[in-house]
Amino acid sequence: MTHLPTTRKACAALDLVDPLASFRPRFTLPPGVIYLDGNSLGVLPALTPERLAKVIADEWGQGLIRSWNTAGWVDLPQRLGDKLAPLIGAAAGTTRVCDSTSVNLFKLLAAALALRPGRTVIVSEADNFPTDLYIAEGLAALLGQQHELRLVAADEIEAALDDRVAVLMLSHVNYRTGRLHDMAALTAAAHARGVLTLWDLAHSAGALPMDLSAAQADFAVGCGYKYLNGGPGAPAFLYVAPAHQSRLAAPLSGWFGHARPFAFESHYAPAPGVDRLLVGTPSVLSMAALEVGIDLMAEADLGQVREKSLRMSALFAARVEHELGDVGLVRISPLDDALRGSQVCFTHTQAWPVMQALIARGVIGDVRAPDILRFGFTPLYLSYVQVWDAVTHLAEVLRTREWDAPQFHHRQKVT
Ligand SMILES: *Cc1c(COP(=O)(O)O)cnc(C)c1O
Repeated sequence: MTHLPTTRKACAALDLVDPLASFRPRFTLPPGVIYLDGNSLGVLPALTPERLAKVIADEWGQGLIRSWNTAGWVDLPQRLGDKLAPLIGAAAGTTRVCDSTSVNLFKLLAAALALRPGRTVIVSEADNFPTDLYIAEGLAALLGQQHELRLVAADEIEAALDDRVAVLMLSHVNYRTGRLHDMAALTAAAHARGVLTLWDLAHSAGALPMDLSAAQADFAVGCGYKYLNGGPGAPAFLYVAPAHQSRLAAPLSGWFGHARPFAFESHYAPAPGVDRLLVGTPSVLSMAALEVGIDLMAEADLGQVREKSLRMSALFAARVEHELGDVGLVRISPLDDALRGSQVCFTHTQAWPVMQALIARGVIGDVRAPDILRFGFTPLYLSYVQVWDAVTHLAEVLRTREWDAPQFHHRQKVT
C-alpha cells in the first residue's frame, strides 16, 4: 500500500499530481456536491446531453427509420459490446450490450443450467445482490423445482462445490461489504469440479482491471449505469466465453437473436455466437448515452483507476477510524487491497438519518438495509480533498447528532 496523506494539504498536493485529474472536467456535477455514490448511479459525462440531443434531433427527427441503417442503430448491441470488452478483459465478439442485468442473469443462468444436465445445484453467496438470488429462485420454479439454490458465506464457496453443482453464480464485488472475489482462483476451483461460472460484474466493470479471458470465466453480466456512467436505467451487458457460444441455447428466443431477423421467417434459428442472446429491439436513446460513458472509461488507464480508488478508499477508512473512534460506526469492508472493491461501508444503528444529514451537506452516499452506510469511490471525478472533506462532514454529523433532526428520519422509496 502506498502511503496515505495525513493532512488536507497533503491531499491537495496529491490532487495536483493525479494522473487522472484531466478527467474531472469531463463530467458534470452540481457545485458543492461530494459524490460518493457513483457505484450506484454514475454521474453525467459532459458530452452526453449534446450527444443525446443530436441522436434525437438528427438521427430520430430527420433520419427517422432510415437511421437503423444509416446511423448504425441496429448494430448498437455489438458496437457497444465490442467497445466494452477490453474493459473486462474480453475478446471482440464475446460481449453484448442489451436488456437489464436481471434479464441477462436469467438468460445466462438458464442457458448455463442447460449445459449441465443432471446437475441440480446453483451455488451463490447468501448476501449476493437480491435480484441475482430472486432470478435464480424464479428460474428454479419455472424449471419445475428440480434445482436447489445453495447459499453459502464468502469463505465457504469452494467447499460448497461438488459434482452436483451446475453453476457457481457470484458477484465479483459484494454490493454491501465491497469484498472482492478472486475470479481466477474461484473459476479454477469451479472448473476442477465441472462447475460453470457466472459472474455479476455490476460493482467491478469500470472500477478495476479484470481479465475474463485469462480467468477463463464462462459467463458474465454487468451494469451500465454504475461505474460506466451510462445514465439511470442504462442497458446492461452480457459475456459468453467463445467455447460455449455455438452450444448455447437462448432461453428467450426473440427476433434480434435470430440468424436472419429481417427474413421474417416463421421459425426460430439462432444467430451464430453470442448474438443469439439478444432478444428484442435495442433501446437506442439509452444506448447512445451509455456509449459516451463507455468511450470515456475506455480512455482511462484502469490500472491508474484502481490505484487511485484503493488509495481513496483506504484514506477514507483510515480517517474515519482516526477521527471517529467511538461513535458507533463499524467497518464491514476489508482493508486488505486484494479483497476490497471500490467502496467502503460501515454499519450504524442510525444509518438512514445519518446518511440523510450527510446528503443535506452535499455528501452523497447511500444506505443498504438494514443498517449499512455505503460510500463508493470513483477515481475519474473524485479528488483526495473531497474524500478528506467527506470524513470531516461525517464526523460533524455524528458528533453533533445533527442526524437526529426530524426531517432526516423520513424514509423514502429508494434508498
Ligand atoms: C446494481 C446491481 C444489479 C442491478 O440489476 P438491474 O437489473 O439493473 O436492476 C444486479 N446485480 C448486482 C450485483 C448489482 O449491484
